[in-house]
Amino acid sequence: MSRVLVIGCGGVASVAIQKCCQADEVFTELCIASRTKEKCDALAEKLRGKTKTVLTTAKVDADDVNQLIQLINDYKPDLVMNIALPYQDLTIMDACLACGVNYMDTANYEPEDTDDPQWRAIYEKRCKEEGFSAYFDYSWQWAYRKKFEDAGLTALLGCGFDPGVTQAYCAHALKHEFDQIDTIDILDCNGGDHGYAFATNFNPEINLREVSAPGSYWENGHWVEIPPMAIKREYKFDQVGDKDMYLLHHEEIESLAKTIPGVKRIRFFMTFGQSYLDHMRCLEDVGMLSTTPIQYNGQEIVPIQFLKALLPDPASLGPRTKGKTNIGCIFTGVKDGKEKTYYIYNVCDHQECYHEVGSQAISYTTGVPAMCGALMMLTGKWIRPGVYTVEEFDPDPFLEALDRYGLPRSESHDPELVD
Ligand code: NDP
Repeated sequence: MSRVLVIGCGGVASVAIQKCCQADEVFTELCIASRTKEKCDALAEKLRGKTKTVLTTAKVDADDVNQLIQLINDYKPDLVMNIALPYQDLTIMDACLACGVNYMDTANYEPEDTDDPQWRAIYEKRCKEEGFSAYFDYSWQWAYRKKFEDAGLTALLGCGFDPGVTQAYCAHALKHEFDQIDTIDILDCNGGDHGYAFATNFNPEINLREVSAPGSYWENGHWVEIPPMAIKREYKFDQVGDKDMYLLHHEEIESLAKTIPGVKRIRFFMTFGQSYLDHMRCLEDVGMLSTTPIQYNGQEIVPIQFLKALLPDPASLGPRTKGKTNIGCIFTGVKDGKEKTYYIYNVCDHQECYHEVGSQAISYTTGVPAMCGALMMLTGKWIRPGVYTVEEFDPDPFLEALDRYGLPRSESHDPELVD
């Protein structure tokens, strides 16, 4: 029996909410709150009669802490699931602290305005000290640790697939497969085809920022940063086939470098087709990925936001996308004094996701872990005062929930390694 407040009603949230409604014995009451209330109403309407979960909706601007506090105090949830955008992480955490409610999200904080001088000063110091230049990092949310501990509240960060499930795979490998993990390669393959020359699978602004940034990896205790897309490998993915993949910076590397004892190297690779890369490079060259506002015909326009308005809505890709995703982690290390390798991954079919919940596999592979993370918190399995990433909790009940709710694991003890 629990009351949950979900903030956001985009591609990922709509999957998470539908999955929560499949577990209506735990998610007994759920409020969907977002900036555009009509989207929340439409989803609640779609689910009416199909679940015992009692659904309500609300309008909220999650950039406004006072609005959030009022909504949380009115609804009195046991948990707030932040599935809006990373820009809202801190305001929602502040509101949860003010109201005494547990918190979770699917992506770590980054600011909407990367030209804000106050933020920029802290960012530039961090780039120098840490050695990676991505706009997002955990420092902002880890700074809330003591506040959550003192309040006796739990904050679970980054509980999607990557970050999220990939970290649970690491915790699983450490618990069941290795005495010592030496290297981790996280491989994110999307073998889906939506038929457009260019579209992003989730929020274009967040996606394009991530992909156009320099890549970096963790090696021997420090970050190595490289130009965007400078390291390319080819890999044969189970049920997808051969794909080109590129090394990217990714947020879970930062936490895994701290939580996996003695790990020597952590890399993250994502597959991209040539058409996607050509379009992105061109858009970047002409300034369309910029977050700096420009004046156009007397109106202020943020180029990347204008681009978002032109691109297909990721939520609309569902019916068109065919093929599979394959996301997982390859480990090398030692067990009982012997060197070994291990690969754990999930394969997800875009069309099967569409038939089940009306969206493609990228939203599905993020929304299902968000729901399973919430399930862990609401059933008391992942409750510990403080701010935590997924690998800091017991992976067993979470991976069992993923197996059950649509993202079953596959394993190999003799995988092809990435050189
Ligand atoms: P969408 O853009 O589809 O949805 C975002 C939702 O948040 C929309 O409903 C939007 O409202 C709402 N929103 C935005 N700003 C506000 C605000 N100020 N107040 C209230 N609501 C707001 O994004 P996705 O569903 O693709 O992504 C959701 C999250 O999941 C993101 O943080 C993304 O980074 C993360 N993600 C994580 C992954 C992982 O594996 N860990 C993978 C993919 C995504 P409106 O409809 O009005 O725009």
